[in-house]
Amino acid sequence: MGRHIGPVCRLCRREGTKLFLKGTRCDSQKCAVDRRDGVPGMHQFRRGKASEYAIRLREKQKVKRYYGIFERQFRKYYAEAARRAGNTGDALMSLLERRLDNVVTRLGFALSRPQARQMITHGHITVNGRKVDIPSYLVRPNDQIQLKNRDHSRKLATENLAHEGGPAVPEWLDRISTDPPEGRVSRLPTAQDVGLPVTPQLIIELLSR
Ligand code: SF4
Repeated sequence: MGRHIGPVCRLCRREGTKLFLKGTRCDSQKCAVDRRDGVPGMHQFRRGKASEYAIRLREKQKVKRYYGIFERQFRKYYAEAARRAGNTGDALMSLLERRLDNVVTRLGFALSRPQARQMITHGHITVNGRKVDIPSYLVRPNDQIQLKNRDHSRKLATENLAHEGGPAVPEWLDRISTDPPEGRVSRLPTAQDVGLPVTPQLIIELLSR
């Protein structure tokens, strides 16, 4: 019989991939996707070939859950990506990756995107020395990401950075310092920089119908 897993991990199990929704637990042996001791629930042995539509829908759900955004917001990103030159799928992933809550997480200042969103909305994060309290803020090359110059702002990020085994900082970001926490955007991210196995083209095929 499988061990109990919570609703958040159940999402990953359902998507069949790690969505990194629970901070350090996701990189530990406790991760419900990595543990192969049985999937709880009545659909654990569900069989059958998924339809083309279901495959595309699943890719979209995966990305929405990973970045923690709702359908309406997701459609806005798609509309913005479709306006840009080049591959729309790649542009979509690049836009999502540039969100400030994602950047704060990928720099290791927060353990998860929900935690990063809270740090941002509570006014702990600055970009180029100015407070930014909008999690969807899109960073640009050379932006400096820091914690406010207050002890209690820095404490949580410093503690998070002290956790061992966290995910590596992606190439498009540069973690300049851990104490005080400081990072820089080296360049715009590409679809290859996204830390989630996903095929953006399938999402575009779904949305462009
Ligand atoms: Fe749970 Fe994180 Fe593993 Fe997903 S990746 S199953 S949220 S521990």
